Amino acid sequence: MDDKALEVLNTVFGYSEFRGAQSTIIQQLIAGKDAVVLMPTGGGKSLCYQIPAIVRDGCGIVISPLIALMQDQVGALQQLGVKAAYLNSTLDASEAADVENRLLAGQLDLLYVAPERMMTPTFLGLLEQADIALFAIDEAHCVSQWGHDFRPEYIQLSILHERFPQIPRIALTATADEPTRNEIISRLDLSQAGRFIASFDRPNICYRIAQSTGNAREALLRFILNDHENEAGIVYCLSRNKVEQTAEWLNSKGLTALPYHAGLPAKTRQKHQQRFLMEDGVIIVATIAFGMGIDKPDVRFVAHLNMPKSIEAYYQETGRAGRDGLPSDAWMMYGLQDVIKLRQMMDSSEADEQHKRVEQHKLQSMLGFCELTTCRRQGLLRYFGEQLDQPCGNCDTCLTPVETWDATVAAQKALSAVHRTGQRFGVNYLIDVLRGSENERLKYFGHDKLSVYGIGDDLDKQQWRSIFRQLIAHDLLSVDIEGHGNLRLTEACRPVLRGEQTLMLRKDSKQVKAARKGRKTFDTSKAKDSQLWEALRSCRKQLADQNNVPPYVIFHDATLAEMVERQPQNREQFSRVSGVGDSKLEKYADDFLAVILSHIEQTSPGKPDTAAESLRLFKSGMDIEAIAAQRNIKPSTVYSHMATCIEQGEIDLNEVVRLKDQELAAIQEAILATDDGHHKLKPVYEALDGMFEYEVLRCVQAAMSAA
Ligand code: ADP
Ligand code: ZN
Repeated sequence: MDDKALEVLNTVFGYSEFRGAQSTIIQQLIAGKDAVVLMPTGGGKSLCYQIPAIVRDGCGIVISPLIALMQDQVGALQQLGVKAAYLNSTLDASEAADVENRLLAGQLDLLYVAPERMMTPTFLGLLEQADIALFAIDEAHCVSQWGHDFRPEYIQLSILHERFPQIPRIALTATADEPTRNEIISRLDLSQAGRFIASFDRPNICYRIAQSTGNAREALLRFILNDHENEAGIVYCLSRNKVEQTAEWLNSKGLTALPYHAGLPAKTRQKHQQRFLMEDGVIIVATIAFGMGIDKPDVRFVAHLNMPKSIEAYYQETGRAGRDGLPSDAWMMYGLQDVIKLRQMMDSSEADEQHKRVEQHKLQSMLGFCELTTCRRQGLLRYFGEQLDQPCGNCDTCLTPVETWDATVAAQKALSAVHRTGQRFGVNYLIDVLRGSENERLKYFGHDKLSVYGIGDDLDKQQWRSIFRQLIAHDLLSVDIEGHGNLRLTEACRPVLRGEQTLMLRKDSKQVKAARKGRKTFDTSKAKDSQLWEALRSCRKQLADQNNVPPYVIFHDATLAEMVERQPQNREQFSRVSGVGDSKLEKYADDFLAVILSHIEQTSPGKPDTAAESLRLFKSGMDIEAIAAQRNIKPSTVYSHMATCIEQGEIDLNEVVRLKDQELAAIQEAILATDDGHHKLKPVYEALDGMFEYEVLRCVQAAMSAA
């Protein structure tokens, strides 16, 4: 184990240990060897090249096709104190020249480059004069001509190996399938490289698919309010219209929801995306066009109001949730209409026969996935060729086992109704027949005379809709191509009709309510902790605005959550929180510590015995420093004990701190002027231009609340 790498992980990134194969991959590169890395989104790919680039001599060159992502990453690295820059079309000539000079002068650890620039003779020439640590080829699946993200320039990247045979290369992707993997290896000439293929499981994502029995929008709203209030999320809809309507409706319910689709002006899209990144708790309602190139780590939920066309699409879209590893939800609501619509779309597709068959198969798999009565995660991973031995315990079917029932007879009735009415009618009509409705149209066709008329009045409309949905999903019924939604029998239904096959169907829960209620991102059952959470979030937002970066670039949610849990009270303890490296400790510790300390004071004026002990020593004549030394605690802690005692009227302010009348008045005034009900000290501190220590301010504040 190279100590250097671990040290960089600790001091620069503020993390205590490597994850999964990270360490091995990093060693491989530091040793000058190549690597191919397949890891799911959020797996921690970036560190795999960032650390070796920092540890090795020279600059790491990162080829990345997504300009927005590049700026994001460089911004985040600079916050960590890493010498990083990028070269792409957004820079003007003099800015670009400046970056190139820094590269040649050996002043960069990491340089992000767009592929089209990489391949220019000028840039390759420049590289020959520079000291290069490694080449990282991000989004390496872009070499695949069969993939959706094909980039012709990526194919030329094989030149790197020819021109710079000594320099290690690492190719990374989150695309799982084997053909793509093989293409990366052969096209980039990486057959000698170490291969690192991680599991594609995203254990922090909880998969939930609810069967719609009515108003999906209402269900979505309840889901958001119950589980994700004030959190960032993406809601996917199929059409632009539905995007607009849904966003508007969510806004009318008091949420911040912004539409995003290809029909909006580029400026509006840009603005909405920016707000999503920079503000807390923004929901984007989008067509699938949104998400590519968005690297926001704290997306807490992805919701689908329409079913995706394949499991691949579902995995990719839901994968945008929870990159930071914290609990997140993939929530979907689907119903009979989705099934009918998608079936029609497939059947009427212009694609050639072979293509159509592939699409049909993918849709069929997706439908099957929705109707699963066993663990969703097992189903999902199985589809990608991975085996999960135990049910996961973190999906709807695991959390609330699905009840099934023997629906053979009901299915026979439904199928007979289709048959007897000539396979020319849609679901609603068929349900009318089954339930013996007094429908005029039905009488006109003489269908009230059929043997199936009224044989299904033991079930209500919703139950029948559920049955029809599942019959279509199981491919026992097909939908007409003309678009009327008429149902036909398929070959596969015969054994059921003839009574040769039992059919078990899922019992849809009556309520639209999703499977699980009230889980929060972290434990907010203790109200005071969630108060601290909110206070930390607003501190982070303030700093983000000041620095003009998204909040997560200051600290990730995981880091804030750890602050809530551990409540560090001094720099030393603060530095041990995961995600706090040297640079951020320097920049932000004081702000966050002030928030935490002020929170501790408000919520536990107790720790009474320890405060009492400090008070006893103080009254015996020791000063604060001496008490701290004797008790082996920080002076600031002793001060906070004193503040507690002042607040409880056990000691007077002027015994603890000596202030001139004018000074006291100034502090009191500042406290009153800045008070917003949260008793924050930072604004007071600032209002007084840092003239008084926090400890002093805290004691004055305590005296004021004692009064
Ligand atoms: P990917 O590029 O694979 O989607 P990232 O490199 O963005 O993933 O990493 C995902 C998240 O995990 C980031 O927030 C990153 O800071 C965090 N992370 C990566 N490695 C570690 C580690 N060893 N310890 C703690 N957090 C880590
Ligand atoms: Zn499960």
